[in-house]
Amino acid sequence: MEFEPTEEVKEPPRIHRLDESVVNRIAAGEVIQRPVSAVKELVENSLDASSTSISVAVKDGGLKLIQVSDDGHGIRYEDLPILCERHTTSKLSKYEDLQSIKSMGFRGEALASMTYVGHVTVTTITRGQLHGYRVSYRDGVMEHEPKACAAVKGTQIMIENLFYNMIARRKTLQNSTDDYTKIVDLLSRFAIHHIDVGFSCRKHGAARADVHSVATPSRLNAIKSVYGISVAQNLIKIEAADNDPSSSVFEMAGFISNSNYVAKKTTMVLFINDRLVECTALKRAIEVVYAATLPKASKPFIYMSIILPPEHVDVNVHPTKREVSLLNQEVIVEKIQSVVESMLRNSDESRTFQEQAVEASPSVPPVTSNDLDLSPLPSGSKSQKVPVHKIVRTDSSDPAGRLHAYLYNNTQKHLERDSSLTAVRSSVRQRRNLKETADLTSIQELINDVDSKCHSGLLDIVSKCTYVGMADDVFALLQHNTHLYLANVVNLSKELMYQQALRRFAHFNAIQLSEPAPLHELIMLALKEEDLDLESNENDDLKEKIAEMNAQLLRQKAEMLEEYFCIFIDSDGNLSRLPILLDQYIPDMDRVPEFVLCLGNDVDWEEEKKCFQSLAAALGNFYAMHPPLLPNPSGKGLEFYRKGKHGKNPRDGENSSSHVGDGVAIEDEFEHELLSEAETAWAQREWSIQHVLFPSMRLFLKPPNSMAVNGTFVRVASLEKLYKVFERC
Ligand code: ADP
Ligand code: MG
Repeated sequence: MEFEPTEEVKEPPRIHRLDESVVNRIAAGEVIQRPVSAVKELVENSLDASSTSISVAVKDGGLKLIQVSDDGHGIRYEDLPILCERHTTSKLSKYEDLQSIKSMGFRGEALASMTYVGHVTVTTITRGQLHGYRVSYRDGVMEHEPKACAAVKGTQIMIENLFYNMIARRKTLQNSTDDYTKIVDLLSRFAIHHIDVGFSCRKHGAARADVHSVATPSRLNAIKSVYGISVAQNLIKIEAADNDPSSSVFEMAGFISNSNYVAKKTTMVLFINDRLVECTALKRAIEVVYAATLPKASKPFIYMSIILPPEHVDVNVHPTKREVSLLNQEVIVEKIQSVVESMLRNSDESRTFQEQAVEASPSVPPVTSNDLDLSPLPSGSKSQKVPVHKIVRTDSSDPAGRLHAYLYNNTQKHLERDSSLTAVRSSVRQRRNLKETADLTSIQELINDVDSKCHSGLLDIVSKCTYVGMADDVFALLQHNTHLYLANVVNLSKELMYQQALRRFAHFNAIQLSEPAPLHELIMLALKEEDLDLESNENDDLKEKIAEMNAQLLRQKAEMLEEYFCIFIDSDGNLSRLPILLDQYIPDMDRVPEFVLCLGNDVDWEEEKKCFQSLAAALGNFYAMHPPLLPNPSGKGLEFYRKGKHGKNPRDGENSSSHVGDGVAIEDEFEHELLSEAETAWAQREWSIQHVLFPSMRLFLKPPNSMAVNGTFVRVASLEKLYKVFERC
């Protein structure tokens, strides 16, 4: 060799067998990661022993003492010597048993592990015995012969000085105060699932228990006693099932929070085949539905119990059995997601339900879960609902043509509306048959077109991306994997609304305008705005004619518009209802005149399929999240609101930059009313983009191929590369 290494050649290190106690301690550290994992194992053992009452006492977050007492079947005297050895269990004898295992434990590792990282003392008595036995363990073996002692039915296991021999683990845990909170949380979860068992959890020596539940036949009662009435009264019962071996086989039952429930964090209590587990995919899928359907962007409370054939669940994938893997997980998640969605859509029902959900006082007989059955609505009634908060006030007499959406009406208005709403509902109900006989192949073809033109790469981006924020008035910044993209929210929302108009075809909920708006005047407004710059009145006659003809045309088409698109035009030619394309979203009412003009001018009324397509496109354009007509006050647009800086009509604002940039600000006074109106409009739009558009896009949008090339998506950076740049700096 030409180049002799200058350093002396190192011998490879020797491989040797680890001392068994070291191996065990390492393994134990995996099973018992923190005090709460020890509590979980002990409580599960108690449940496996058919206990009906389990109490937990904890000192110093579990580091000083964990004591779990139950009234289960106890442990035989003869088994005590091997109780805490590794791989000793009464629950499994051959590997195949795992396939149908019902007990929570099966590895025979938990107690053994505890003896390697703490001091374990067991007191137990079996049925028919006069006295019990007490014995302590260390490193898997008994420290002494079991001692006879007085005992009450069942088993008590005590762990002292957890992690006494793992200095680093103990130190990190000592600094965190939240282990007791975790233990309380764990017991709360067990308590609402195993409702035939009473649970309690307290700090050692404390008189008051932090979790206290008694056996009850009603799940809601259990939830009430553990999570409080504010949670229990806002729950909706939910069920789903499938029994098709080619897709999925499961049964799910549970409770989910309704729209009145408000929380910053999701609580998801999930049991699969009676095991407390986590399933991130399911949790995320449900959170997305809540974000897309409820206004407050509240995080949900979810209790779900899923039962699957035991052979469909692999329980042995996680050392603490926390995550399980399921056969057909994606199908199951999707099915549950859609059930949650349809339950939430009936938010009015959930409110009525709330009043009966939990008994008002103990004198009223407890409500059992059977009482809470939400009978499904008669089919079709959903489409006639006009939720009161969706009623929008319009004012067509406003000379500026600004038809503002008043999202919050006062109670008086609600009452006034009520009777007319009922009338509207019943009249629509009578007409339902017409819809059912319609031949809808053309709408199905349009939906198939959307599906076949879907770009799979973009679909992945929209369904998995994270919204970062608005980069300017039109582009939002998103992150997908390690890439950042700019996405045109106007194009995206326009397409989404178009697709929604097709998908909800003939099944829309309605936005009720509080003042019916005359078509003729709306069209006149739109026409005048079209040639605002000309400022001439000479062709007013012509405009009148166009308006008259278009209004006439739309009146002729009123029945079809109402039946299929929920666009309601009364016999006097007034527009009074519009469809809801996305829940929680009301379009910018300033754009109504333009929309009505577009219905007259741009819709193809000759051929069915083209007609539906152009109508859906007109709706898409109207409902798209365009920048508000008032300039954005946070930025250059602010100048527009200086007094004397703009004309009477705020729509001039779109061209205002031309006379803003002169820099001669004489007056510092702003048009405050207009300014705050603009601020509200922009803030509301941004809220809708984040909380309605993006969550709904994830669920519903099929991005067409054209979006890959027309500038709707622009990849701006790769985070990997950015990190590299930062590293060099
Ligand atoms: P596993 O639960 O996987 O079988 P463990 O180490 O947790 O393993 O427990 C070992 C055995 O000890 C169990 O199989 C059970 O027979 C017995 N055991 C543990 N805790 C209890 C209890 N609270 N009541 C009765 N038997 C228990
Ligand atoms: Mg166990």
